[in-house]
Amino acid sequence: MEHVLGKTRRPGTCLFEPPGKGFCAKEDLLLYRNGGCICLLNRFPYTNGHLLVAPTRHVSCVTELNEKEMTPLMALVSAATAILRRILEPDGFNIGLNLGSEAGAGIADHLHFHIVPRWRDDVNFMTVLADVRAIPEHIETTYDRLLPEFQAYYQLQKTAP
Ligand SMILES: [Zn+2]
Repeated sequence: MEHVLGKTRRPGTCLFEPPGKGFCAKEDLLLYRNGGCICLLNRFPYTNGHLLVAPTRHVSCVTELNEKEMTPLMALVSAATAILRRILEPDGFNIGLNLGSEAGAGIADHLHFHIVPRWRDDVNFMTVLADVRAIPEHIETTYDRLLPEFQAYYQLQKTAP
């Protein structure tokens, strides 16, 4: 579990504002950055393929988003869900927001959607009962499988009228 124990983030930076301007960055598990929003693979996933989608602007609540930010953000949530469905073939999803640390947000000051793929036989109850997470695939392997799909989505966005 090197991603849990080692490879920690640079201090003093926001997880949802990875450095640079590039479309992707494997060291930050950044799968997509374009049009005012990003998609990251969660370094501390509940299941394999647990994604985080956020606006690039540091806001804590949906009420702070302007209309120009909402459309690409929801489009990215939708595209990321479609990509997970195609590549990982889950049986369902949990998609949601935790607003405020009392509501379970790990990073409460930067709004982010969780997209958690679920399988009929996954062992999520273990997380609840024993803080055990069952991740069958190495996170960098998952990243490598998902990245070409996000690149294709990026190309689509660039060529859209
Ligand atoms: Zn931030």
